[in-house]
Amino acid sequence: MTDKRVAIVTGASRGIGFAIAEVLAKAGFNLAICATREATLKQAADALSAHGAEVFQQVVNVSQQSEVQRFIADTLAHFARIDVLVNNAGITRDNLSMRMKPEEWSSVIETNLSSVFYTSQAVLKPMMKARFGRIINISSVVASSGNPGQINYCAAKGGIDAMTRSLAKEVGSRNITVNAVAPGFIDTDMTQELGDKAKDALSSQIPLGRLGTAEDIASAVLYLALDSGSYVTGQVLHVNGGLYV
Ligand code: NAP
Repeated sequence: MTDKRVAIVTGASRGIGFAIAEVLAKAGFNLAICATREATLKQAADALSAHGAEVFQQVVNVSQQSEVQRFIADTLAHFARIDVLVNNAGITRDNLSMRMKPEEWSSVIETNLSSVFYTSQAVLKPMMKARFGRIINISSVVASSGNPGQINYCAAKGGIDAMTRSLAKEVGSRNITVNAVAPGFIDTDMTQELGDKAKDALSSQIPLGRLGTAEDIASAVLYLALDSGSYVTGQVLHVNGGLYV
């Protein structure tokens, strides 16, 4: 078994997931990362290795339970331990409710919510055996505020917040903490389609006057992953520049 702690980060090939994997690598973790596109995943793995982490990578669609189970089993076979799970992979398929297609609803629920159940269930056995674990779910401010055109996304993220509280109660006695980090608007590919004008308008509504960076979210995840977060569980930590208070 490796002496270094091991963190799994889903959707770590770019954006917030990559920033999370990078701070964990710098903090001395080894990493297991996944995404659906092989080329960007490999680039991310190479960049993370440069920080001294051993990186196990696999192409996984987190909405498929069998692929998730294989990924977690292969990670365990590779490192013989799993200390931290960060459920970050997510997508948007925005549409007004009246026009939302069944596929837009189900793909977001499966990718953003069911996946969190699949990964969490798969890591519980090794974490319980080790009597240690940190599960950190990436939610969103819109789970609390609501957002027109995103009922699928808001339902998935609201489900994550509720699942976080319930699982925290189930596994707390085994020294496993379960928390969520809820980003506000963060400058990544996901918010790219907003365009500069919409981003400026958004920034003017944010008390801290700017969109967040992926690193702003990664810092919050690191706090929960390290000993600093050891007495925090069942919480949703909002990191949004004051957008929702
Ligand atoms: P992003 O830039 O679009 O990156 C998404 C990541 O998830 C990529 O690595 C992507 O890799 C991976 N991914 C997507 N579908 C996947 C699947 N089915 N299986 C495995 N991996 C998958 O998004 P982001 O802005 O960094 O967002 C990361 C998380 O933060 C998401 O959960 C998002 O909902 C949440 N969030 C973001 C914001 C924001 O403003 N950006 C705000 C609140 C919450 P591939 O393309 O290779 O699949």
